[in-house]
Amino acid sequence: MKIIREFLPYFDERPIGAKVKALVLHCSAHSARGMIEVLRERELSSHYIIDLDGTVFKLVSEKKRAWHAGQSKWRGMNMLNQYSVGIEISSLSLGQTEYASAQLESLIKLSRQIIRHYQIPMVNVVAHSDIAPTRKPDPGLAFPWQYLAQKGAGAWYDLSDAAKVTENDVMTLLQIIGYDVIDLAAASYAFCRHFIPQAITVDNDVNHLVENVYPTDFVFPPEYLPILKAVAYKYGK
Ligand SMILES: [Zn+2]
Repeated sequence: MKIIREFLPYFDERPIGAKVKALVLHCSAHSARGMIEVLRERELSSHYIIDLDGTVFKLVSEKKRAWHAGQSKWRGMNMLNQYSVGIEISSLSLGQTEYASAQLESLIKLSRQIIRHYQIPMVNVVAHSDIAPTRKPDPGLAFPWQYLAQKGAGAWYDLSDAAKVTENDVMTLLQIIGYDVIDLAAASYAFCRHFIPQAITVDNDVNHLVENVYPTDFVFPPEYLPILKAVAYKYGK
């Protein structure tokens, strides 16, 4: 795994006592160099960027709070920058088409190191879209969460667990998993992006996708309730 050090000054100290408990995955529709320029313009950052060819750029020390997540919530955590390490992955389609295997290889290596170092629970390996469902679509429906989980960098569900869950209310189940459900359509869509990409629509227009993160009238498709229950079983423990 090739790592290039590139300094970005957009970070601050983590609050005293704030432990790293989450790994937040992003994507951006630029090469790593292009993304670094965008971050400089916006005075934002992330700890790492993984380029289209799998090269890793390290921008901010993990000890510092990088500015990647913005307003965000997950499993009782608020404002996840303080609790997380952030990784951006270059994806010109903004995660609507497959990621390159070299990128996934680097991502898995890097993620496993971070997860092991901070003892991050697998259920806290999250998408930006999971923690900011009304605002963010990344890393997109093509992101291979199941594969990552198989490689020891995240959680996945076992459908046979669905029968063990008596709760049937979509909002309650999403809350058990960790979503902020203040906007149920957004939370439902973010869940599908992560766990049931076949239930939602590919958007090939990056600009449109950024402006239209989820259909505001989206209703969780009832035929997929068993998957929602199985995930709630896994994440609710
Ligand atoms: Zn993001």
